[in-house]
Amino acid sequence: MHFTVVVSPGAYRDIHVAANAEKEINWWDENDMRATVCTECYAATQLERYIKSHLGGTVSLQTPEKFSWGEGYTVLLGNNVTNPVIRTLEEEAGECFSANDQVKEEGFRLCGFEVEGAPCVILSGHDRVGTLYAAYGFLERLGLRFISPGEAGTCYHQAYDLSGETEFDSIENPDFTSRAVVSAYVLDTSVELVEWMSHARVNLGHIMITDKHHWIKKLGIRLAGGGHSIYYRFMETTHEYPYRHAIFGGEGKPEDPYPVSPLYLGDRDGDGILTYGDAHPEWYAEVDGERRMKRDLKAFVENSNGAGDNICTSNPYAREELCKLLIQDLIDGEWRHLDYLDVWALDNGVWCGCEECRKSGNLSYRLLMLTYQIDQEIKKATLEGRIKRKIRLGTLAYHETLPAPDRPLPDDFDYSNIFVTFFTIERCYLHHIDDPTCTECNRPLYDLYLPWTGGGHYKGQMFIGEYFNVSSFAAMPFVLSDKILHDMPFYYNTGTRHFHYMHITARDWGMIGINNYLYTRLMWNIRRDGEELMKEYFDLRYGELAEKMRDLYAHMETAGANCKIMKHYQFFDGKVTRTSGLFSKEGIEMFPTTHMKFDYRANSPMAGPSLVESVKLYKQCKEEFDAICREANAQGDLAYRLNEDKIRLYYGVEMLDFIEALVRFRFAQRYNPDLAPLAFEKVMAFGEVMQKENWGLTGYETNRTNLLTHLEATWLQNCYIRLLKTYHPENMDKNIRQAADLIL
Ligand SMILES: [Zn+2]
Ligand SMILES: [Zn+2]
Repeated sequence: MHFTVVVSPGAYRDIHVAANAEKEINWWDENDMRATVCTECYAATQLERYIKSHLGGTVSLQTPEKFSWGEGYTVLLGNNVTNPVIRTLEEEAGECFSANDQVKEEGFRLCGFEVEGAPCVILSGHDRVGTLYAAYGFLERLGLRFISPGEAGTCYHQAYDLSGETEFDSIENPDFTSRAVVSAYVLDTSVELVEWMSHARVNLGHIMITDKHHWIKKLGIRLAGGGHSIYYRFMETTHEYPYRHAIFGGEGKPEDPYPVSPLYLGDRDGDGILTYGDAHPEWYAEVDGERRMKRDLKAFVENSNGAGDNICTSNPYAREELCKLLIQDLIDGEWRHLDYLDVWALDNGVWCGCEECRKSGNLSYRLLMLTYQIDQEIKKATLEGRIKRKIRLGTLAYHETLPAPDRPLPDDFDYSNIFVTFFTIERCYLHHIDDPTCTECNRPLYDLYLPWTGGGHYKGQMFIGEYFNVSSFAAMPFVLSDKILHDMPFYYNTGTRHFHYMHITARDWGMIGINNYLYTRLMWNIRRDGEELMKEYFDLRYGELAEKMRDLYAHMETAGANCKIMKHYQFFDGKVTRTSGLFSKEGIEMFPTTHMKFDYRANSPMAGPSLVESVKLYKQCKEEFDAICREANAQGDLAYRLNEDKIRLYYGVEMLDFIEALVRFRFAQRYNPDLAPLAFEKVMAFGEVMQKENWGLTGYETNRTNLLTHLEATWLQNCYIRLLKTYHPENMDKNIRQAADLIL
């Protein structure tokens, strides 16, 4: 079949030039209309690319001026404003075939009909992103799905090919407003991942950006940033005070807009520079009666770890200065490309205990009010023409700010622009988030979530931050389809319209690709039938092996049900219980929760598989998988996908073997010390291999130091090194010894 795709290149020379013109366009000025031209032309080139590569068709791109009706499939891209062919067609028919009033922001309409016996389709949105999604929607009608990044993740299946139907009219609108991908571990240079994000209709990305801002915006993805770093980036205690101070002076600096502090400290370190902390100690948290200003710049610079003492949020001058610096940065600083700013306090930071602060509401209220003020300042800067784009703000319910605000927010609090992210980091994945039987863990979290969703002082929409691949999961093969299919509708039905999880990896997803597929599909359409979605995923990814692989995934989901305990932490009696921490110390109870015991299930409806059982089940999955592969003798893309799966599963089994060996060693140490050295031999057998391996971690791209080898990915390396030093100092090779010197 030949396809003629008609799209307007605007003032550009031709369609391909327009599709690649992103660098010339100011995507942060909503009046730059070239953005629409560029994305629409890019949509046309996407059709060209995939129809040729995966559907065996031929494609020509045509401008409206040169277009004439002819043979083959005609594809009209754009709407009656951007594409004159669509406009003429509608005027002649006296009817609208393109995006109408039922099409919402980023939504689209696919309208197919015949013109003199030849098929024609109009792919349209009101906005450029909607039109781009319409192009993806049309590719889906032709039987294509973007299951995971890259060629091998782009799948065609005849059962989903509707190209025979030429008359259809469908409208799709997104259910979640913010459909986000978040990762502290991937770079924007992962072209295939970012393309997949666009295909999955992800419209918000918080990944590590190098220089591809323009390209990402072209693909319909807004940029998110901010977070725990705000107090380090702006008005940090050690930053130079930028004003001419009445006592200290400051030749050439602007006049000091703030009154001299009664707590003025002067140049404490005598380096001739007055810092913010020297000038205004009262702008920072009072801790135990003292303006302590405790910060760890080194940890912030090296690990982006924003911890320490927060600012004094009840001090109006502190807030004013913070807003001023932040707004300027959003205009022409490092964050000039951000469309979504996370306003968070420091990570596990210490809050101000001054009298004013203590009177000014609970911590959530204080943070919301700071966010409110920043929003007001952004609005002011927008009116003044200093900011030309929409900047949405997020703040968070996380750890100390999990409880909802304890007093009413201002009447003009802009709920259409400020959202609260509720982070479920303390949850378990053994139970659904709203499962009342999970009294140890999800129930307390659920009780904290509900007051945010109605009846309380916060009246807006919620953003949910999930943890399908939390840092310490390190791309373990944890299949979470049952939880995702249940929990996401629950979140939606309780008013959540924004969603992400931490942390997506760049490639080689293997089985965890299903988590990514399901959550992105549901963000777009929460009413999608779970069974249908699952069938689609397995049909497309595995073809004839679909049923067998689906069984395998189900077995893996059971095996990994206690993944949070095995590889992260969860709530236990209202406190965070970091289980990897329990495995790393001598002589403490390692399995305090009912969720998971070492080698038996507790007699409780809350109990899940024990550690021993989980490891055994994963090993059975490995055998099951090997048998499937032997029998299938797959070739081409399917072989590639199975190899991805193999990496994921083998990596997982190795990791769990290590953990089980370590736990057995701990038991020996405690109850049978004579056997401890022998038990450690087993741990070391795994550790020696894992310290040299990284094939399970290829999806991690940034050089954050804690995920370079499988041993590091255990999150137990320091403990391992300490034990190695005790039992086998001669086995500490040069590299590992260096690391040991640092931590011991
Ligand atoms: Zn205070
Ligand atoms: Zn639970």
